Amino acid sequence: MMNNRIDKILSERVFTKESLVELLNANTDDTAKIFAEARKIKKEYIGNKVHLRGLIELTNYCTKNCYYCGIASGVKNVNRYMLSMPEVEQAIRFIHENHYGGIVIQSGELQSEKFVSLIEEILHKANSISGNTLGITLSCGEQIPETYKRWKDAGAHRYLLRIEASNRDLYYKLHPRNKKHDFETRVSALYSLKELGYQTGTGVMIGLPFQTVEDLASDLLFMRDFDIDMCGMGPYIEHEDTPLYKFAHLAVNKTQKVQLSLKMIAILRIMMKDINIAATTAMQTLINGGREMALKAGANILMPNTTPGIFREHYSLYKNKPGLYEEAADSKDMIEKLIQRTGSITGYGEKGNAPHYYRRCRSLNSQSLPTTNRS
Ligand code: SAM
Repeated sequence: MMNNRIDKILSERVFTKESLVELLNANTDDTAKIFAEARKIKKEYIGNKVHLRGLIELTNYCTKNCYYCGIASGVKNVNRYMLSMPEVEQAIRFIHENHYGGIVIQSGELQSEKFVSLIEEILHKANSISGNTLGITLSCGEQIPETYKRWKDAGAHRYLLRIEASNRDLYYKLHPRNKKHDFETRVSALYSLKELGYQTGTGVMIGLPFQTVEDLASDLLFMRDFDIDMCGMGPYIEHEDTPLYKFAHLAVNKTQKVQLSLKMIAILRIMMKDINIAATTAMQTLINGGREMALKAGANILMPNTTPGIFREHYSLYKNKPGLYEEAADSKDMIEKLIQRTGSITGYGEKGNAPHYYRRCRSLNSQSLPTTNRS
C-alpha cells in the first residue's frame, strides 16, 4: 500500500504541475526515492554510458542583452574574441583524435551573413576532419529558419536552444522586453529546429531571482510537451556586472540551488526516460563535484571544454573564477576518472544520439506510412 504521496506519484507517474511541485518540494528521505527511481530508469533506458561532446566556445561577441549573462552586449568589462579557423580546427582535431564522438559549437548570438557562413565552413571542416563520424551540436542562439536549414544542410545534427524560463512573465524579468528578446520568437525558433529534423534540445536556468517552484514544474511540463530530445539545464550563477545581480538576494541559497538542480534532472529523467541530459559546467561551477552529482541524478552527457585555453576566461557567463579553473582542468584523464567515479563508462567514438530521437523518428515515419502507401 502507498503510504506516501511521493511513492504514489512515482509509481503512477502522472505528472501534473501539482505533482511536480510536490516532487520538487520533497524532503530529504523522499528526495532519495526520487534519485533512486531516476537511477533505475536511466539504467534501463540509457544504460551506464556517458557520452562526450567537446565544447568549443567560438565567440563571446553577442548582439543580445540578457540580464543574467556575462557576455551580453551591455556588459562592458569583457575582452571580445572570435576564434580563428586554425584555432577551431585545432579544437576539432583534438576532439576527433581523443574519440570524444561529439562536438558542441557555442557562441553569442550573431546573425550576420559572415557569421552564418563561418558556421557552415566549420561544419564542413568538422565533417571532413572526422569523416562524418562526429555528432555535431550547435548552440548559437535564435536564427531565422533559413539559417537553421543552411546549417543542417552543412552537416549539423543537433541544436541546443534554452528557453531559459518557460514562464513568459519570468522570461521578461530576465530579458529586455523588445523585438530582439521576444519570448514567442524563441519558442518558434525551437519549433523550426524540430521541423527541420534537428535533434532538438532546450533547458532552463535553475534558482533564478523571481523564479518559483511552480515555474520549475512548468518548465518540466514545457520540455515534456515539446517532446525534446536533449536537455541542458543548470543552476543560475550570479555575475556582478549584469543587471540581474542586484536581485541576487531574491534567489534561493547555494545548497537549495544544488538540490533543486539535481531534482530537476532526476525528475526529467523519470518523465522523459530516453532523452539526453547534460551534466552542465554551471553545476560544476556551483559546487565541486557538481557534474558527478548530476550524472548520478540522471544526466548522461558531459561537455568537456575544448576551447583553446587563452580564450576560456573571456567566455565567462558568470563571474565564479573557480569554474574557470575547473574547466581548465578538463583533461581527458580527469573526465575519464570523473565518469568512472560515477560507476559509468565512456562512450568513446560514439555520436551518442538520444534514443528518444530515434523513437520519435520511427513514430513520425510510421505516421507518414499510410500516406506513402496510398500514393
Ligand atoms: N546565445 C546562445 C543561446 O542563447 O542559446 C548560446 C550562448 S549562451 C551564453 C549559453 C547559455 O548560457 C544560455 O542559454 C544561458 O542559459 C547560459 N547562461 C548565461 N548566463 C548564465 C548565468 N549567469 N548562469 C547560468 N547560466 C547562464
